[in-house]
Amino acid sequence: MRSRHPDPTARRRFLRTALGAAIASHGASRVGAAAAQAPAPGGPTPALAPPARGAVKITGLSTYRLPDAIFVKVETDAGVAGWGECSSDNRPLMETFVHHGLKEEVLGRDPFDAEPLWDRMFFENHDLGPGGALPNAMAGIDLALWDLKGRLLGLPVHKLIGGAYRTEVRAYGSFGVGFGRRMTSLEAARTAARFVEKGLTAVKVRMQIREHRQNPEPEPTFEYVKAVRGAIGDGVELIVDANNGYTAARAIEVGKRLAGDFGIRYLEDPCSDQNHRETAQVVEALDLYVIAGEKEYTRWQIADLITQGNPDFLNPDPIKVGGLTEMKKIAAVAQAFSKPIICHNTRPTLATAASLQFVASIPNCGPFLEFPDTDSFGKLMGAMRQNVDLRGGSLLVPRAPGLGLDVDEEAVRRLALSIQ
Ligand SMILES: [Mg+2]
Repeated sequence: MRSRHPDPTARRRFLRTALGAAIASHGASRVGAAAAQAPAPGGPTPALAPPARGAVKITGLSTYRLPDAIFVKVETDAGVAGWGECSSDNRPLMETFVHHGLKEEVLGRDPFDAEPLWDRMFFENHDLGPGGALPNAMAGIDLALWDLKGRLLGLPVHKLIGGAYRTEVRAYGSFGVGFGRRMTSLEAARTAARFVEKGLTAVKVRMQIREHRQNPEPEPTFEYVKAVRGAIGDGVELIVDANNGYTAARAIEVGKRLAGDFGIRYLEDPCSDQNHRETAQVVEALDLYVIAGEKEYTRWQIADLITQGNPDFLNPDPIKVGGLTEMKKIAAVAQAFSKPIICHNTRPTLATAASLQFVASIPNCGPFLEFPDTDSFGKLMGAMRQNVDLRGGSLLVPRAPGLGLDVDEEAVRRLALSIQ
């Protein structure tokens, strides 16, 4: 049984092995091995070459279903493990998907083969849906692999995926008014005020309307926005998320009043993510910034959103799009269209760390990063020995190896509803 605590000698053993392999690569054995793996001239290119001699191999993969999250642990024969997080929309389904479809694509493989491993997980399961559950589940593995590689090399992940454009990012506090029992406008005002008390300088209220309650009557948004604006004052940025709840005509009507009466500058998901044409109409008509993209999962889908919907800011989420490997491609597509990214982020631990490592590494980071109400995630926060750092309204990019956080595996085991 492996130690539950990181073995401090494991990384040194890995580095010695890697250094030895690098030196050996000047000799015949390494060159010979590489030549043996090379495709014959004109022959087919293998989907994924076998691990080279001396390479680290993935030996185990476990899921921990927690009350508010699902964590993935990837273990290796180097004695070093990495932790990631899947999207939480349906945690039993995430567990199943990881263990029946994805795990077999990575076991026995070299964790440094990031791109071909991502391709194997995605394209071998593509018929199950390129958006939603597949990339949601893949994210847990991809993030664990990046965490693992950072730990093996002793570097924070942002140093492996592009380097540091920034060391911190302004956070906005994000909360929803609810689906079934909706909080009162007074409760919304108090929730928003708690963020400001914690030092945050921007807040988002999610109206959680959605397409099947489109254009609700009476219109609920103004009552909430009025109460929240009254509680936080004019000096705090207030973002409104319609959660896809309006037609273009209603969104334009609501957006004009939000801007004129309440000083709103950012409106998120005014229309259905299934209808980019309406988003484009809203962008054209309104004199405020439109954010969209939390339900786009791939570089191809984000390209369609940009070219058809033309939002001002994009908000993909690392735990929804299949991890940092795809986020970097999405960022490149977005940069080609001069679109900054404001990460969607509704989980306060590993997902937030992944978002921070990502925004550190890209030039087109938007003005904020979403951050949830940590008071709503008490148990999950207790699963971390060390979590993200919020100072002066900004989240600091973790600088420790990997994603930069320290999972308390004993606490995770106690908290878990299921371990597989
Ligand atoms: Mg949203």
